[in-house]
Amino acid sequence: MNILFLGAPGCGKGTQSKILIEKYGIAQISTGDLLREEMSSQSDLGEKIRSIMAKGDFVDDKLVLSLVSKKIESNECKKGFILDGFPRNLSQAKSLDTLLENMSKSIDHVLFIDVPDEVLIQRCTGRLLCDTCDYIGNKDRGENIGDPCPVAEGTLYQREDDKEETVRNRLEVFKDQTQPIIEFYEEKGKLNKLIGGNDPKLLASKINKIINI
Ligand code: ADP
Repeated sequence: MNILFLGAPGCGKGTQSKILIEKYGIAQISTGDLLREEMSSQSDLGEKIRSIMAKGDFVDDKLVLSLVSKKIESNECKKGFILDGFPRNLSQAKSLDTLLENMSKSIDHVLFIDVPDEVLIQRCTGRLLCDTCDYIGNKDRGENIGDPCPVAEGTLYQREDDKEETVRNRLEVFKDQTQPIIEFYEEKGKLNKLIGGNDPKLLASKINKIINI
């Protein structure tokens, strides 16, 4: 099963992807994570990526496409995959179509999680990550940068691009570049729109109903 998640930063794509991975044994392809991995290698390319991401702008289409295609071809994706954060503009969506066609694969479900801007800004600017595990905390829950992770041995930190000014730019870029993709999949009759509230379990059960058809 191949799934594509669409939605603005902080809409909950990552959280829902993790739930589906566990349930179906498919792989998550998060271009944000792949780029952060590349960044941590401290190569020249990594440094270039860091400065683009710090502003909330998009990394070069060709680079992202090559990371995605390598991952789809890997053994990890044998049972299927979830695309999270790709495609992010019309050109990437068209490239993905060609890539999948050449591999005789297709996307089974396109899921768009719609969340109001103010909620997205609050979620992203409050979000805290663990440097050791997948735990996602939030300042709303009284957690702070530097606190010990409640799950693993790690420490909580804030992503560089979760600062308010950058989050606002990411939302602008989403509206400008990614919104057209929503229409692209709608015209193909593939789009499922979901309203993302504050209850991840409720959203997960709505997603389940769609993909179990
Ligand atoms: P979010 O969805 O919360 O913005 P991601 O981790 O998916 O977080 O992306 C973080 C950043 O990585 C983006 O702001 C962008 O700079 C870069 N990025 C991720 N995916 C892509 C992509 N498909 N194309 C170009 N840049 C990307």
